[in-house]
Amino acid sequence: MTEANLSAGNGNGSPRIGVYVCHCGTNISATIDVVAARDVAENLPGVVLSREYKYMCSDPGQEIIKDDIRELGLDRIVVASCSPCLHEETFRNAIADGGLNPYFFQMVNIREHASWVHKDIKAATAKANDLIRAAVRRVRFHRPLEARRVPIDPRVLVVGGGIAGIHSALTLADAGKKVYLVEREPSIGGHMAMFDKTFPTLDCAACILTPKMTQVRAHPNIEVMTMSEVVEIDGFVGNYRAKIKHKPRYILEDACVGCLECIDVCVFRNGKTPDEFNLGLSKRKPIYIPFPQAVPQVVLIDPEGCIEFRTGRCKKTCVEVCAERNAIDFTQEETFSEVEIGSVIISTGFKAFDARRLPQYGYGRLDPVYTALEVERLVNASGPTEGEIVLRDGSKPKKVGIIHCIGSRDKNTNVHCSRVCCMYSLKLAHLVKEKTDAEIYEFFIDMRTGGKGFEEFMLRVKEEGVTMIRGKVAEVYPEAGNTGRVVLQAEDTFLGMVRKIPVDMVILATGIEPQADAEDVRRTFNISCSTGGFFTERHPKLAPVSTFTDGVFLAGACQAPKDIPDTVAQAGAAAAEALALIDAGHIELEPNTAFVVEEECSGCKTCVGLCPFSAIGYDEGKASINEVLCKGCGTCVAACPSGSIRQNLFEDEEIFEEIVGVMANV
Ligand SMILES: Cc1cc2nc3c(=O)[nH]c(=O)nc-3n(C[C@H](O)[C@H](O)[C@H](O)COP(=O)(O)OP(=O)(O)OC[C@H]3O[C@@H](n4cnc5c(N)ncnc54)[C@H](O)[C@@H]3O)c2cc1C
Repeated sequence: MTEANLSAGNGNGSPRIGVYVCHCGTNISATIDVVAARDVAENLPGVVLSREYKYMCSDPGQEIIKDDIRELGLDRIVVASCSPCLHEETFRNAIADGGLNPYFFQMVNIREHASWVHKDIKAATAKANDLIRAAVRRVRFHRPLEARRVPIDPRVLVVGGGIAGIHSALTLADAGKKVYLVEREPSIGGHMAMFDKTFPTLDCAACILTPKMTQVRAHPNIEVMTMSEVVEIDGFVGNYRAKIKHKPRYILEDACVGCLECIDVCVFRNGKTPDEFNLGLSKRKPIYIPFPQAVPQVVLIDPEGCIEFRTGRCKKTCVEVCAERNAIDFTQEETFSEVEIGSVIISTGFKAFDARRLPQYGYGRLDPVYTALEVERLVNASGPTEGEIVLRDGSKPKKVGIIHCIGSRDKNTNVHCSRVCCMYSLKLAHLVKEKTDAEIYEFFIDMRTGGKGFEEFMLRVKEEGVTMIRGKVAEVYPEAGNTGRVVLQAEDTFLGMVRKIPVDMVILATGIEPQADAEDVRRTFNISCSTGGFFTERHPKLAPVSTFTDGVFLAGACQAPKDIPDTVAQAGAAAAEALALIDAGHIELEPNTAFVVEEECSGCKTCVGLCPFSAIGYDEGKASINEVLCKGCGTCVAACPSGSIRQNLFEDEEIFEEIVGVMANV
């Protein structure tokens, strides 16, 4: 392509380009000769002025650009500095303040793409020069564009009804916003609903959680959907539409008053199905309520256990006793509904590590071995033993061993520390001792008690007579002589000897893992996961509750293992981010959308099915693009056989000129 072509491209006669090379402190200037880069840029065709400056993004840096536009009549700007993710908006705003269309601008990333990835100053400077030359050639072809403004729908979708989802939903609803709270289980509450007491204050979990659960149910601004999951979401920030699947409960929620008489009269006098909420430590009937404080207080029927579903020949005593309310409906089927929202908070929580994956500890094989969550249910007054610590053989334990870091800090399972296990192990040590006066041994690798009041709690538990042994348990095996007890074998690293301690009960402090379906949720909401599988925040320090998808926020243990105080703090932050978005009223979208040159479109429809955002329609034999739905991914532009789809900011001339610019020195 010739220089004549270049000048003609902008349609304005000769361009007046200003180039600004940033030092970024020494981030760039230590590896790139910024003065040389400035001088090379100055001699490029169309460049009226080239400067280098210590911090282009600073106020004085921006003022320089504004003044130059006004005083020298610059009509195109190139800034060679850091990533556009950080400062493209800053410079566009400065250019607009200077009186120029903000899209007459091209940013060159000579930091991440050159100075940070090279050591050799000569080579890094040459690369920076190539990138600046490419931008100078490209920017001539930029056209004036306008950002699209779209209103924000003030409604919010909260996915997951644990303490994180509950707290976010209440914060938003109290601020007057409509919230849809979607929970896949029959009740909201999450893991916290399973606990009796919470560390480090030992306050009663139910006493602080159930009032919040009831508030959620009663709040006029919150619509709770239990036994439901989001299966599809489309749209964009401020304007999402979610499709929700509702599993049948076989009970009419509005008619059931939670009298529980149907459960009493069910022909299964004693339940036969392992109770999920008690982790199989008790049995339940096929018609049941998950736990006494469940919200909603509505029973449900498990069709796999129900005689009516299996044989069609049950006496249906439940229907008889509910005749007045007529709440039982065996004909219910899976249904779907749709909601429109402007933002989403994902609070899908965690799953406990499956202790069967470490067979050396005997879980599922040796009766005295329990997981921590099971013991949370045992110590709970509404649990399977009404708070008594009774073992599977009916006896009370006299010696108990607690093993830390099961499925955490181990390269064979999870490398991460689950953060809560040391503290909940100490809590369980205290509770079990209080209830049984057993001798308790805690086996830990490192005692991690970093948190308000945590170290004090550890010292208190120590003073209560719990024995702390620093060492990883290698194996749990049955004691010789058929005693029913098991032996914990570990190296005590304080004493420097192997210890074998027989106990009646073992508690495995199982770690925190991402939910089994985290990958599906990630895909549905177009967010990302870290290597461990937890959802990734946009920035670990500066945007800890945002995701890379605008308008989608994270709260709670779905993002990383955390305790209840941190979960609640993060849930409040996620709600605040959603509120800030809503209160802005509108959002500006990049004008980098695709458009169809109608005269050239043959109407082949290739693009229609390919668009991942369903933004392309078909109108009178031609493709037509919905600008609001288009995200500027470029799929249709690349696929269009006639080349009749083009894209703002990515026009052929712009791309070709950039390539020619990079290659010009080759
Ligand atoms: C044994 C044990 C004891 C603990 N004890 C304490 C303690 O004493 N003190 C303390 O501070 N912390 C404690 N913790 C940590 C505490 O459990 C967490 O901090 C807290 O539960 C995190 O809340 P959450 O809402 O993020 O997740 P969760 O409690 O896991 O709730 C997530 C919710 O989302 C729902 N969900 C999941 N996926 C979907 C989906 N796709 N669609 C819809 N809904 C979905 C789930 O059903 C659940 O209701 C303990 C943890 C364990 C394992």
